[in-house]
Amino acid sequence: MEGRIDAMLEWRESIKEPTLTEIEEMMLALRKEMAKEIIEMLLEGEEAREPVEEQKCPQCGKAMMNKGKQTKRVGTRIGTIEVERDYYYCGECKEGVFPLDEQLAIWDKKWSEGVAKQAVKWGRRLTFEEATEALQELGQIEISKSSIWRRVKKWEEIFQEIERKKQGGDDQYQEQDRSSPGRSEKYGQVF
Ligand SMILES: [Zn+2]
Repeated sequence: MEGRIDAMLEWRESIKEPTLTEIEEMMLALRKEMAKEIIEMLLEGEEAREPVEEQKCPQCGKAMMNKGKQTKRVGTRIGTIEVERDYYYCGECKEGVFPLDEQLAIWDKKWSEGVAKQAVKWGRRLTFEEATEALQELGQIEISKSSIWRRVKKWEEIFQEIERKKQGGDDQYQEQDRSSPGRSEKYGQVF
């Protein structure tokens, strides 16, 4: 963190009379780097905390085996980050889960829910190409045009379903829907 401040001061020394836009650019880059460091630090805390209790198979209820850690790159609104989390496997059902992915509400195994929300919002209003550019430029979200194209419709349906369940006051929902895409009910209205 201190190194970043030093780099900024050095940058200031190297430029004689910066414009506000030049200062902005530098600050945006610095903000992104620092946010990424902090988010990865916070995630390390979450990773270290698991497993809190024995992981039960969501299908059959039997205890699952911890198969160790796996690293995943996840797209967020502050850029792509790395998440290292435990993988649990059920010998009965021959299926595995990443409990931390569910806690974090990671969508389609590689996006934060905030990214999914923004992609749906702008994918509906703009062409996919424009949406990709807007997300990159304004939201620092690195998502390709083809990803938006492939996912917007599906994500939109999921968000609509969440809204419907919320309005219907379905208490069962939170318990039932702990599979992908995670605890989506945390999010407010998308549209
Ligand atoms: Zn099972």
